Amino acid sequence: MLTNDQLSAWDRAYFMHPSTHLAQFARGEAANRIIEGGKGVFIEDRDGNSLLDGFAGLYCVNAGYGRSEISDAIAEQAGKLAYYHAYVGHGTEASITLSKMILDRAPKGMSRVYYGMSGSDANETNIKLVWYYNNTLGRPEKKKIISRWRGYHGSGLMTGSLTGLHMFHKQFDLPLPYIKHTEAPYFYHRPDRGMSEAQFSAWCAEKLEAMILAEGPETVAAFIGEPALGTGGLVPPPEGYWDAIQAVLDKYDVLLIADEVVTGFGRLGSMFGSDHYGMKPDIITIAKGLTSAYAPLSGSIVSEKVYDVLMQGTDELGPFGHGWTYSAHPIGAAAGIANLDLIDDLGLVGNAGTVGGYLKQGLQAAVGKHPNVGEVRGEGLLCAVELVEDRAGPAFFDPAKKIGANVVGAMLKQGVIARAMPQGDIIGIAPPLCLTRAEADTIIEAVRTAVEEVLGQG
Ligand code: PMP
Repeated sequence: MLTNDQLSAWDRAYFMHPSTHLAQFARGEAANRIIEGGKGVFIEDRDGNSLLDGFAGLYCVNAGYGRSEISDAIAEQAGKLAYYHAYVGHGTEASITLSKMILDRAPKGMSRVYYGMSGSDANETNIKLVWYYNNTLGRPEKKKIISRWRGYHGSGLMTGSLTGLHMFHKQFDLPLPYIKHTEAPYFYHRPDRGMSEAQFSAWCAEKLEAMILAEGPETVAAFIGEPALGTGGLVPPPEGYWDAIQAVLDKYDVLLIADEVVTGFGRLGSMFGSDHYGMKPDIITIAKGLTSAYAPLSGSIVSEKVYDVLMQGTDELGPFGHGWTYSAHPIGAAAGIANLDLIDDLGLVGNAGTVGGYLKQGLQAAVGKHPNVGEVRGEGLLCAVELVEDRAGPAFFDPAKKIGANVVGAMLKQGVIARAMPQGDIIGIAPPLCLTRAEADTIIEAVRTAVEEVLGQG
């Protein structure tokens, strides 16, 4: 067995990490942490530290760590048949069963599941589905996709373009053509403090309509959005938002893609965010919570309306020419089945709602009145504390001060992992859905102590 020092040296010498300052990492100036194991909401690192993972990895380990129900199902599938492809009508019991289980849980009007490996490739598939749909309908000019500033939809070239965060664009010459961004439904950052939530939602819908008209409705194919904004700030939508948006989309025959990579399978306290907010999506993106990240698997749930056109398309154009080697990977499918069963058996969707409510209230009570806390918000187990220089205004901190990252660092010293969201001083909390009230108390206490350590008692 390698010593910790050897492993750490190899890490810095051979492994190129995502989203990492490569030069600092190679020079040993940025920390590395090697994770060995996990149980429930805790992970253990190689130095023997036990940490409460308040962000469920990358908000994906929804069932919690160390679930033998899922790892046993993976081992069994790997022993029986580790791989076969899904091209030209091939399947496995696992991939077929999982499809039925997903559709049983999905919002009304859904028809089929197409599988990928990551949220990014699923959204890439969705763009192709939407283009194919309009090609079949004889309107090849209807191709633009409208996303939102602060949306996150992936890291590919097209999906990185959909992502509405500047830091994901500027290093890679994005966004590419066909992708436009409209206003984020971020009530705390509304342009006019006098607006009510309903007025702000109407304003967002007006902005969307103006964009569709300026681009030409005959060129706009789809709108993509997370039911509640994720990486862009963990922001539940303002009252009436999705109804107002849906009305505009219906008016101009624009499809709705609900990106439920984070919200799917229980995070908001409902099986899907679309149901939670009364959205009527044409396509739903799923990933993370589908397998609780025990194996990489994603999917596009396609509605009857879209699937009927796709079938017509293949009659006219030939077989659907899009596929990945690992579409519907049997090991991923086996993990998905065991995970969805476990979510039901443990009542994790309901738990996310009740313990999520408890966590938000607790955070509100602990830090909500602190002069540098602008907002405590959340839905289910997707919570955020937004830090500001001055609540009046509000005025935001200079990003160079890294206040959010410092607070998250102070939480880590207490053994609790939170995520400093990439844009703004936002402390992200999205733990596994099996969180207990006692564990929620630990998170709340860590946030309170860390805010006071970095920003004073207020
Ligand atoms: N969509 C959303 C809403 C996401 O949060 C993410 C990942 N954080 C993705 C898509 C991309 O998923 P992946 O990283 O698996 O490609």
